[in-house]
Amino acid sequence: MLKYFYDMSTLHIRGSRRKLITGAGTVGVGAVTVLTLGACGEDGGAGAAEAATADPTVSSLHDYESAEDIWQALLDGNQRWADGEAVHPDTDVEWRESLAEGQEPRAAIFSCVDSRVGPELVFDTGVGDIMVTRTAGNVFDPLVSESVSYGPAALEAPLLVVLGHQKCGAVTAAHEALLAAEEGTELEEHEYALPETVEALRPAYEAAKTESGDPVDAMIKTNVLLTIQALKEHPNLAELVADGELTVVGGIYSLETGLVTEVS
Ligand SMILES: [Zn+2]
Repeated sequence: MLKYFYDMSTLHIRGSRRKLITGAGTVGVGAVTVLTLGACGEDGGAGAAEAATADPTVSSLHDYESAEDIWQALLDGNQRWADGEAVHPDTDVEWRESLAEGQEPRAAIFSCVDSRVGPELVFDTGVGDIMVTRTAGNVFDPLVSESVSYGPAALEAPLLVVLGHQKCGAVTAAHEALLAAEEGTELEEHEYALPETVEALRPAYEAAKTESGDPVDAMIKTNVLLTIQALKEHPNLAELVADGELTVVGGIYSLETGLVTEVS
């Protein structure tokens, strides 16, 4: 039990720079005292996270402070995934139990619902590492953008990644529908419809018209860039971006290679 308290204090010291959502009352008075002290201290380093990584050469995402380093760590994890060498850091029982006291995800990720593009997998991260919001075609509305903003705004995650992907079915369907409507041609009937998603992708469709190359690829990239632009202006995020406390980046995931390519 003592070790458990120690690990908890390590977690909280490491997380001193941010507001943990704690349930410390459930682990006893002694632990609460330690946690409170930890919350006032300086960053004490990795501790529990090092123990949480099965491969000692791979650091936990919680070992990184800056958005730049966190993004590089995510890209490193993505390279492991693409190479078939994922190590699944931060997935052991001790780490999972420590997170019952609070979370401090190091990045927020906004991606598509596609079953082949699970962010925790493609970036080789573990539990508590990233806060993920997913919608078809990674489109947003006021409700969704609040969820996207939660990690950076409430939990002080310094990085937000908008992740599109190759051969996105939602973007492809929206492109077909909007093109058919524009040209007045018949659109194949489906038993399902995503009219709100199609409409949300209209700005990307319009903006991508001036791009060269495959129109759906251009729309996927444009959608990521327009989403970044809009999220930077979200009332929960604009000040963080202006103050340099939040970095927003974009990426496109390749189903074929497993790699994420940064887009700007
Ligand atoms: Zn998709």
